[in-house]
Amino acid sequence: MKIASFIYDGRSSYGVVDGDTVSDAGAVLGQCYSDLRSVLASSNGLDELAALRDAPTLSVDQVQWLPVIPNPDKVLCVGLNYLKHIVETGREVPKHPTLFTRFASAQVGHDQPLIQPKASAAFDFEGELAIVIGKSGRHISKENALQHVAGYSLFNDGSIRDWQRHTLQFTAGKNFVGSGSFGPWLVTQDEITDIDSLVLETRLNGEVVQREGLDDLLFKIPELIEYISTFTELLPGDVIATGTPGGVGAFRTPPLWMKPGDVVEVEVEGIGTLKNTVNAE
Ligand code: MG
Repeated sequence: MKIASFIYDGRSSYGVVDGDTVSDAGAVLGQCYSDLRSVLASSNGLDELAALRDAPTLSVDQVQWLPVIPNPDKVLCVGLNYLKHIVETGREVPKHPTLFTRFASAQVGHDQPLIQPKASAAFDFEGELAIVIGKSGRHISKENALQHVAGYSLFNDGSIRDWQRHTLQFTAGKNFVGSGSFGPWLVTQDEITDIDSLVLETRLNGEVVQREGLDDLLFKIPELIEYISTFTELLPGDVIATGTPGGVGAFRTPPLWMKPGDVVEVEVEGIGTLKNTVNAE
């Protein structure tokens, strides 16, 4: 099942995507669940969503996509998690996951423009696989980790590189408003049998700029969940962006930055394609 959040007729909603249509489940379930995060937090929320046959059906052209979870408690991002990307940065292979956070306001939905800020032209793409948590937990073991995953989505961890490197802390360069994207939907875990066999591809104006198998991840999904849940409680709707492979713009000669008018796509076959244009602030 593919589940998305969107705006229709000035109202925030969510529903199940089927080809070129999406159910307006929020129109029916909105009294019980104000958003997709609340659906995930309910033990039978996903079943109710799946069983909803009488929800109005919309064409995907009628909706404005929101980030899959528009209001997560937290978005945790993993830096330096693909071996080839670690090599291109010239850093040592880390012993522990490199983690930073992004605010909800730093992401736009699928088909919405990314914002290249006035403050910098060094606007880089980072195509990533995102995990959405379905079941809360702390001290989750690697062995039980996947029981806490609702599904998978795509993320562009758009980065303002000069601001990222002002200090050793990534926060500023990773949190410009509308600099990243998250979508188009989440694919429930039951539809993905072997996540490691899938390939992540990022395209800038149709040209492939990143392409790597998800099996190149240094810290795998179960390890990330075990590590993160050791210090914080993972909650339904929390997002973990698992890191970007090699090929980012900053390490090219000359650097390749996203600029107004560009089109950037992040694709994992079996999950979908997250597509955004770029606008100037
Ligand atoms: Mg990243």
